[in-house]
Amino acid sequence: MSTCMAAASREGKKINDVVFSSSAAAKEAIKKYGIKNVVNATVGCYAGDDEKVACLPVVEKVYKSLPMSDFITYAPPVGLADYRSDVIDATFEDQRPDGYTAAIATAGGTGAVHIAITNYSEVGDQVLTTDWRWSVYDNLCDEVGRHLTTFAMLDDSHSFNIDSFSSAVAAILRQQDSLLIMLNTPANNPTGFALSDRDWEEVLDVCRFHEKNGKRISILVDIAYIAYTGDKNKVRTFMKQFSHLPEHIFVMFAYSMSKGFTLYGQRAGALVGLSSSKDVIDEFQEVGKYSARTAWSNINRAAMTLLSIVRRDPALLKELETEENNYFQNIRRRADIFMEEARACNLDFVPYKAGFFISVPTLKSAQACAKLQEDLIFAAPLARGIRLGVCSIPAYKMTGVASKIKKALESV
Ligand code: PLP
Repeated sequence: MSTCMAAASREGKKINDVVFSSSAAAKEAIKKYGIKNVVNATVGCYAGDDEKVACLPVVEKVYKSLPMSDFITYAPPVGLADYRSDVIDATFEDQRPDGYTAAIATAGGTGAVHIAITNYSEVGDQVLTTDWRWSVYDNLCDEVGRHLTTFAMLDDSHSFNIDSFSSAVAAILRQQDSLLIMLNTPANNPTGFALSDRDWEEVLDVCRFHEKNGKRISILVDIAYIAYTGDKNKVRTFMKQFSHLPEHIFVMFAYSMSKGFTLYGQRAGALVGLSSSKDVIDEFQEVGKYSARTAWSNINRAAMTLLSIVRRDPALLKELETEENNYFQNIRRRADIFMEEARACNLDFVPYKAGFFISVPTLKSAQACAKLQEDLIFAAPLARGIRLGVCSIPAYKMTGVASKIKKALESV
């Protein structure tokens, strides 16, 4: 009989990491057949055409120039003051909505999502997100006793499904007085989908309707991948719509340095709050600080310092944006090859606008991914489809992937 020590309430807690096992299989295949012959579509970090995880050159240059004291000294639990102000600028760029704002430094975007769930939903509550979602949202909710509920992200014409959103919000708010809604856009993981400005208008109309009926609604916009979605101001125009919202509609943004600064392992991010009410923002800072202090105490000081140095030096900021744009263009080229070939062979895929991933819908993703492995293509089998990390597949390997997926789907 096995010995158990964990508290009874923790029984059965296990992360079901389907990406990890496909990635392990890809690594084995690379050893056996050589990297040239294997398509490893499981990776969720940007890689150049050499297939090595890339670091933005300006980030490497500035990071390596920092004194040791920046790496070893504690930072305040809410984050360095300059960082908190610069990360708000980085979130909004030129599309800053009117309202009070504040930022809490967090352990990556994951930490930001954690703080939002813990403080803006009740124990036992349902938290709402799209059916196409980053699976860690489920674990983040479960860990603190919340239930993740989903609505259909797309309708039959592959547009944002406002009807599904609206009925899900109404159904939950028949049972709850408040609701946290999490939307990962632009560059949704795992699909690359994004809500348009019009979609956001409709989302906010639904929220305003329920707010008028006495409900409190918090919206978390997860912008983890926003740095690789195109012109920084054009992709943020939707943010202006958050100006002057009623005080019982609170908007937060989960900001991450993992992708935008290629600092995945350095664990730096922020939760940015925006409200028409100063009281709501004051409270946000207090509860956020409490959660940060108790979850990780304080985060990587060197990463925060780097963000401020780069954002406060116009030449460095230009370098960063140029380099990010090169990565974005490269991802775009890879995605274009896939989409063109998918259309040519009638392979359905979730509308991709930008981002690290493209998804092909199927309820037989495990079987299809196993079949694809026979062609030395390794992709992530998700509940709703097959996920391809276009962020890391070189263009020359993209050719032919769509038709092989089509073939695999037809055979299962
Ligand atoms: N949000 C989404 C949708 C993600 O895919 C990720 C990372 O994969 C994150 C947030 C958070 O990443 P990190 O904690 O590394 O900043």
